[in-house]
Amino acid sequence: MFDIRVLLALAALVVFLPARSEVPDCGSLAERAESIRAMRDRDPAAGVEQGRDLIEQLDAASVSCPSGRMLLHAAVASNLHILGRNPEAVEVIGEALELADGADDPVEAAAVRRTAGVIFWEAGVHDRALEHYLAALEASQAAGDVEGAARAAGNIGNLHNSLGNWEEARRYHLEALEGFERAGWQEGIAGTLVNLGALSARMAEQYQRAGDTEQARAEHEANLDYNRRALAIFEELDNPRGIAYAADNIARALIPLGRVEEALTFQRRSMGLRREVGDTAGVIQSLLTGADAMLVMDRPDDASAMLAEAESMVAPDNRNLKRQVLSKQVEGHEASGDFESAYRLLRELMSLNDAQAAEDLAARVEQLEQSFQAGQLQQELALQRARAELSEQRARRQRLISTASIVSVLLLLLVLGLLYSRYRLGRRVSRTLDHAARTDSLTGLSNRRDMTEKIDRAILRRNEDNEPASLIMADIDSFKRINDTLGHQVGDQVLLHVAELIRKQVRGVDVTARWGGEEFLILLPGTRESGARCVSEKMQRLLADSPPRINGRALALTLTFGVTEIEPGASFNELIKRADDAMYAGKARGKNRVVSFDEVAG
Ligand code: GH3
Ligand code: MG
Ligand code: MG
Repeated sequence: MFDIRVLLALAALVVFLPARSEVPDCGSLAERAESIRAMRDRDPAAGVEQGRDLIEQLDAASVSCPSGRMLLHAAVASNLHILGRNPEAVEVIGEALELADGADDPVEAAAVRRTAGVIFWEAGVHDRALEHYLAALEASQAAGDVEGAARAAGNIGNLHNSLGNWEEARRYHLEALEGFERAGWQEGIAGTLVNLGALSARMAEQYQRAGDTEQARAEHEANLDYNRRALAIFEELDNPRGIAYAADNIARALIPLGRVEEALTFQRRSMGLRREVGDTAGVIQSLLTGADAMLVMDRPDDASAMLAEAESMVAPDNRNLKRQVLSKQVEGHEASGDFESAYRLLRELMSLNDAQAAEDLAARVEQLEQSFQAGQLQQELALQRARAELSEQRARRQRLISTASIVSVLLLLLVLGLLYSRYRLGRRVSRTLDHAARTDSLTGLSNRRDMTEKIDRAILRRNEDNEPASLIMADIDSFKRINDTLGHQVGDQVLLHVAELIRKQVRGVDVTARWGGEEFLILLPGTRESGARCVSEKMQRLLADSPPRINGRALALTLTFGVTEIEPGASFNELIKRADDAMYAGKARGKNRVVSFDEVAG
């Protein structure tokens, strides 16, 4: 029977399969995340929605894909940040940062850290912002990512700008500009130009306050120039948000330069575009610019209408924008002589400022705490890094040393191996040569040279250790006739037969040599003359019993033996002569016999 649960599981599989197939694979997630991130310039709310949907789909399908998720979270956070939803943005970027810690791609992780920096900066947590920017800059530089490094440099420039470190800010922005130009990234170049413009605007303000109108003017001109260049690029890129931003900046630079009419055309263009894309904060900025122009042109009513619209658009929790609008309204009322309204709004502005100051103070305390902790953390990190560097250096040195030792040992082994093989070869060759030098080529018995040495040693042992030894000289009888009648080859066969017969009869310690053509000399260590006689007689009998067979016929063959014992004090030549004499005595007595030297001498 089929289990109903199996059927249900199969049904569920069929139902969920199509749903799963809609989930994008990991490979395409980076692209999807990028397109969602890019939506912040056109429709950030939709960007947030699409990003969150995609994350939900991934969760539902239990797709892990950490790199894709990291980029998606960062893209959503980026859109939230544009929408001014900072607490949410901080939360979402936190998830991205957790994934960035273990990311495989340093360039992607650096991008996420830059986004985090922007969000923390907006949230007023400057230390954390700087921390992420610096990490991003370092990682991008290490990865050789020129564009990423330029982005991080730009972010750091913005941070310094917001903290009033203008020289630092300008340095980083110029570094960013150079990087973007090198990478050929137009959007980056334009954004950096806008940032440099903003910096000039702030410096102009400072010079103005200090009464240096000339320097102030120069900075306004610089601001104008930067934003004109940016505008041209944004137009090329068809980026409405960028165009609106640069145009508004141009308008703001033109007003203090006294070119108000010109400024208004840029202001209108900016505001129109911002209304089109629904950029509320941008529209408010454009209205503030417009009001400024109206005040300069002495049209306070137009200014106040614009400011009223701006006021209606400011979100209640956006205190900063509210203050900007209020301060411009105070200016407007002053200009139109409505001092009562100006006073009322000024008081409102002051209470807002007080609240802001209290909040800033609290934030500053928290920031100091964080800086303190971050400082400690940084010291700790620097220490760890130094330690890691040191141990890495040690390890490198160790590796170098051990590699060198291994190479030396291998070389040594190679040289030793070569020497050894040469030595072995040499030994083999010399042994072969030695053997050849001591052997008779026809019979394989010892030759004269070898036998001479062995006899010399026997003489020595006889004299020093009193060890007896005997010699037998055996000569083939009438060998010449065999050669003459049967041929030299048969003569050789006969020689081999005799050599083999003698070899069989002697012991391992005995030495047999072919002493001359058909003469054999046998050394018998530890053997007296009587023993040598016995050996000789045995050989004589054996040869008679097993004669050499030539062409199937036995050849009658005899040997004559001369035997002598090595006497103490006797010389080599004396000994050979004695054996010879005994043998020749045997020949003289009719051959085929054993004669000992004692008999001859006797
Ligand atoms: P005797 O009985 O008196 O010893 O007479 P013999 O013929 O054996 O002695 P002789 O010294 O007159 O002759 C020895 C011969 O042995 C002379 C030589 O041609 C021959 N002979 C020497 N060396 C070799 C060899 O290597 N091969 C062959 N086939 N014959 C050899
Ligand atoms: Mg002979
Ligand atoms: Mg002879």
